[in-house]
Amino acid sequence: MSFRDSWIDHDRNRSMRFHVMTLFPELIENAASTSILGRATESGHISIDAVNIRDYTDNKHGRVDDYTYGGGAGMLMQAQPIYDCYQAIVKDIEQVKNSGGQSVSDAEDGSPRGGRTRVIYMTPQAPVFTQEKARELASEEDLIFLCGHYEGVDERVLEEIVTDYISIGDYVLTGGELPALVCIDAISRLVPGVLGNEESSQTESFDDGLLEYPQYSRPEVWRDKHVPEILLSGHHANVEKWRLEESIRRTKERRPDLYEAYMERNKSVK
Ligand code: SAH
Repeated sequence: MSFRDSWIDHDRNRSMRFHVMTLFPELIENAASTSILGRATESGHISIDAVNIRDYTDNKHGRVDDYTYGGGAGMLMQAQPIYDCYQAIVKDIEQVKNSGGQSVSDAEDGSPRGGRTRVIYMTPQAPVFTQEKARELASEEDLIFLCGHYEGVDERVLEEIVTDYISIGDYVLTGGELPALVCIDAISRLVPGVLGNEESSQTESFDDGLLEYPQYSRPEVWRDKHVPEILLSGHHANVEKWRLEESIRRTKERRPDLYEAYMERNKSVK
């Protein structure tokens, strides 16, 4: 176990709760009930609550968007429904915490718990999500995600409630639901118990700032391609050495930016 993960591991029984403000809850719910996320939800390691922003609009026709001041194409999500939705979620979170339920109080190890629940707005106008950010967010008990749609969201409500702005890449999507799911997926697999014993988040891409080495499963020979001899040797130290070399080679080839940063870091350690 790496140093970074040690604080997560010390309370294996905690569960992490995701609250997603969205106009399309079914998108979130489908993903939340499928595969590893579905299993983790069933077992109570995580919960994913999709909250429909439309349920909170004051508008009697159920409107949640309007034209942008200053002109320009497209509709903007209005502040009021989002703000009221947010307040309802915060109230909910406080209730669960006060009931003593599954709450973990401010951690003694100084990890960033307690205090205000972080609110993440998914937007292309932000730093791009990384494994490091996933690790940081995995230490929270509750996280609130805001998914934009159409042209985006009225700036004033963002100023009022958002603590973190996250993009998933330099391209524009139709909505924040897929980006929120990307983050939830990456964070969830770092919550203890979400990955089974046979799956592991201990050694994989980005752990040392390197991409993972190539991997092989049965059979030993497939279409005349052989599994590298060394992996069959049973010689643990040699296997580790080979894997590190492959990781470095692969990173250099596919992500020269990560490779440069890795070399730089290792230079200063020596
Ligand atoms: N007009 C906006 C884009 C709106 S896209 C702009 O130019 O910045 C509609 C919504 O999709 C956004 O509000 C955001 O929540 C989400 N979205 C689109 N691309 C995204 C990305 N790369 N990362 C995270 N969220 C994104």
